[in-house]
Amino acid sequence: MIEFDEKTVRAEARAWLEANWNPDLGLVEWRNMLADTGWAMPAWPREWYGRGLPSGLAPIVEEEFQRIGAVGVARMGIRMLAAATLLEHGSQMHKEKFLRRILTGEDTWCQLFSEPGCGSDLAGATTRAEKKGNRWIVNGQKVWTTSAHKAQYGLLLARTDWDLPKHKGLSYFVIDMKQPGIQVYPLRQMNGYASFNQVFLTDAEVAPEFIVGEPGDGWKVATTTLMNERRGADSLRRYAQPTHKPGRAYAEEREEIATVMEPYKWYPQRAGRVDLVVERAKATGRNADPTVRQEIAKLLILSKTAEWTARRARAAQAMGRPQGPEGSLGKLISSNVARTAAQVHTLIAGADAMLAGRDGPMDGLIAEVLLSVPATSIAGGTDEIQRNIISERVLRMPKEPRTDTDRPFRDVPRNIIS
Ligand SMILES: Cc1cc2nc3c(=O)[nH]c(=O)nc-3n(C[C@H](O)[C@H](O)[C@H](O)COP(=O)(O)OP(=O)(O)OC[C@H]3O[C@@H](n4cnc5c(N)ncnc54)[C@H](O)[C@@H]3O)c2cc1C
Repeated sequence: MIEFDEKTVRAEARAWLEANWNPDLGLVEWRNMLADTGWAMPAWPREWYGRGLPSGLAPIVEEEFQRIGAVGVARMGIRMLAAATLLEHGSQMHKEKFLRRILTGEDTWCQLFSEPGCGSDLAGATTRAEKKGNRWIVNGQKVWTTSAHKAQYGLLLARTDWDLPKHKGLSYFVIDMKQPGIQVYPLRQMNGYASFNQVFLTDAEVAPEFIVGEPGDGWKVATTTLMNERRGADSLRRYAQPTHKPGRAYAEEREEIATVMEPYKWYPQRAGRVDLVVERAKATGRNADPTVRQEIAKLLILSKTAEWTARRARAAQAMGRPQGPEGSLGKLISSNVARTAAQVHTLIAGADAMLAGRDGPMDGLIAEVLLSVPATSIAGGTDEIQRNIISERVLRMPKEPRTDTDRPFRDVPRNIIS
């Protein structure tokens, strides 16, 4: 087994970046270099664009990227959920076809899980995939599909067997979004953006080799996607920010952030913008108010402890220890931080917090925080679902009574006829 230590990893990353980073390279060319040398995703296996580093050491490489100002691989959005899922369950062909182009940013992905009749109860999906000749034919409706209007590929959860219990009759596919059987209609959110879509699948086709795992493995594969989604919700998550420096790679990254990454523009606001609180309190003079100071202190303590909990989870993972309660708590804590941050921003801004656009504080950014924060406690599993998971799997409390898992799915009472 190769031993890694922080000092060697930092020195190697620094030396390589100093020798190779060139902002005048094209973005895809640069990212291909990262993939070829394993600096793309240092914690991934060497065979797949990584260096096999323990995940706890990957942030050191990121720090070196930031120090020199080098652009990293494309990370925002569903692409990383696709990558993590395919890395674990995908075939050799899936990995060869998709992983590199995910990292270079050439393909964009979406997650076709939620449906009008199933969100929290994801295993109740009724979109059906039927094998007809040499094709899977897919019919149904998905909703809240972030980025579907930009995506080349979708991660699709669909029912392939109605005679098995609900979790056993699902399969997982990679579906080409650019085909006549798929119609995408944007949904406008209360914060003004239109990141989500309704997606209608009418005789949409999937070639047999694009099933991930075997027929019936859908729930197991989807669980990997969801676990990665929930893990990503911790406070260490980074958002791509445009760099206003000269150079082709920076210019192309700015263009990427403005176009492909546009659906995620409001994600920093959805996390509550804790980073702005002290600055805003000083700028408005509200830092002189002891009540405001007290609430800011509470928020910063909550935010810091959330960060440390996330770091503990990563350290345990890096040392090969099984995931403890801190892993399950991360998503729930991020909701609490976001909600508390929205309250503190309101305390600082007063009624002005309600003003959107140019009239509002920070050109409407504070109003955007208030309108975006509720998404944190819904996306990737609601707070209530996280509490169920913690009570059942971490605290080993009795499970919710269920009447839908012991019979063929076709016999389970549902509010949607399919
Ligand atoms: C920002 C954002 C991005 C999203 N992106 C995507 C995407 O790209 N792809 C995708 O497929 N979906 C996406 N979603 C959808 C998201 O996964 C669902 O909204 C979420 O799983 C909740 O499902 P639902 O909206 O159907 O609510 P429901 O499941 O109908 O829940 C309604 C309420 O009932 C509560 N509830 C439900 N079941 C239980 C229970 N057993 N115990 C206690 N309380 C319960 C919930 O907590 C909630 O408060 C996104 C959502 C958001 C907000």
